[in-house]
Amino acid sequence: MNLPAGGPTDMRRMDDLDPEDWSSLRALGHRMLDDMFDHLAGVRDGPVWQPMPPAIRDSWADPLPRGPGDPAETYAAFRSRVMPHATGNLHPRFMGWVHGGGTPVGMLAEMLAGGLNANCGGRDHAPIAVERQVIAWAAEIIGFPQTASGVLVTGTSMANMIGVLVARTAACGTRVRAEGVGGTRLVAYASAAAHGCVGRAMDMAGLGSDALRLIPTDAAGRIVAPALRAAIARDRAAGDRPFLLVGTAGSVDIGAIDPLDRLADVARESGIWLHVDAAFGAMAMLSPRLRPLLAGLERADSVAFDFHKWGQVPYDAGCILVREAEHQLAAFAADAAYLRRATRGLAAGEVWPNDLGPDLSRGFRALKVWMTLRTYGADRIGAMVERSCALAQEMAARIDAEPALERLAPVALNVVCFRFVAADDELDALNAAIVADLQESGLAVPSTTMIGGRLAIRAALVNHRTRRDDVMRVIDAVLSMGRARAANGRRDNAA
Ligand SMILES: *Cc1c(COP(=O)(O)O)cnc(C)c1O
Repeated sequence: MNLPAGGPTDMRRMDDLDPEDWSSLRALGHRMLDDMFDHLAGVRDGPVWQPMPPAIRDSWADPLPRGPGDPAETYAAFRSRVMPHATGNLHPRFMGWVHGGGTPVGMLAEMLAGGLNANCGGRDHAPIAVERQVIAWAAEIIGFPQTASGVLVTGTSMANMIGVLVARTAACGTRVRAEGVGGTRLVAYASAAAHGCVGRAMDMAGLGSDALRLIPTDAAGRIVAPALRAAIARDRAAGDRPFLLVGTAGSVDIGAIDPLDRLADVARESGIWLHVDAAFGAMAMLSPRLRPLLAGLERADSVAFDFHKWGQVPYDAGCILVREAEHQLAAFAADAAYLRRATRGLAAGEVWPNDLGPDLSRGFRALKVWMTLRTYGADRIGAMVERSCALAQEMAARIDAEPALERLAPVALNVVCFRFVAADDELDALNAAIVADLQESGLAVPSTTMIGGRLAIRAALVNHRTRRDDVMRVIDAVLSMGRARAANGRRDNAA
């Protein structure tokens, strides 16, 4: 061992990192747990989101700590500088983007997973078995056979990326992994309403985002199948190689669901891979009433979705499933000497998660999914998803009944897009200002999107804590803030 030059090394500082006195850290840990339970129990009574005041915003420039610090003091900094200024997605009136609310059980699972600090890249240990169990449950939810393969990943963005790579290898054969696609002009298809991460996946896979053909949608935001067929024929005639069709089950803008059965027919006729981005929509499979909307999902070759959105598992927990496991293995399995499988010992096990995706070291995401499903049960999550959709319908009905509000899109699932209307020729700016006002007031967090060239206030009802009263308070606030701004003629985004 090479000891640093210049004097004897202080062996005391080379001790392990466990506390000398467990009792004080234990007491601090208990306090943290109690504080977080209080926080979750009272989340409804606080503001949804609070911007960081300048003093806190500027407080993040500490030098690298060279010496030891007191964990209680760091916890105090967390309480004052971090906790009050988090995203806000725990709150029942957080309706921005598509965010899950988490659960107390999910929080505990995160702590337990941290305690075990398992590396779920591979090898033969129980945390891997938990993940296999979760993947089998995921296959059951989607309607895939139990022989399907899959892994948990950060989110649907990564799951879509894996879907693109599996489809590429299925189309070109495993030599493509060594040789690249060369001059093969692989082209893929998705609706114009597909999430931006699909184009990014094509980009990151080296296929180019221009090789993703965006097919027009109908008035309900669903891909137009004849236009898709025509695009495939056109590309074939031009010498391109169609290899992938990406369906959307729950579009990010308005929650639209592509006609998945028809997409499965097109994919089969054309001999191309069908991948479905069901980022949040997949959880509708847990509701017997909503499941028919996703008919055909079970015919996909691969499906990407999130447990961290409607599934309420804490961030992050995405999932990729591949119906025929050999395709996922073909795209990712590699043999390196240091990852060699043994027949006995810790290095046993045929397929490791690192054979199924790009990550080698991976955390124990599966525990929070496993504990969430075991605690609440799939039926209760399905009922909660159904309630979000019922609330969205109530919200839409209220909007339709208010002369000062205009709904901008049909409500297929849980996303409601609308705007405040006034005698004003800058409605986009007015509605953007209303949304910023609402967010800064702490009362609610909707977000915005563009629908048919018009800025919409977008409420995505994903949080299990959201009730009818929350939805109505948001509408009331949009009306009063809209009227105040319209009366003052103040459309700017400034406070
Ligand atoms: C949220 C979302 C994504 C991205 O998923 P992440 O988990 O944020 O990576 C992709 N597609 C759709 C339809 C989404 O709603």
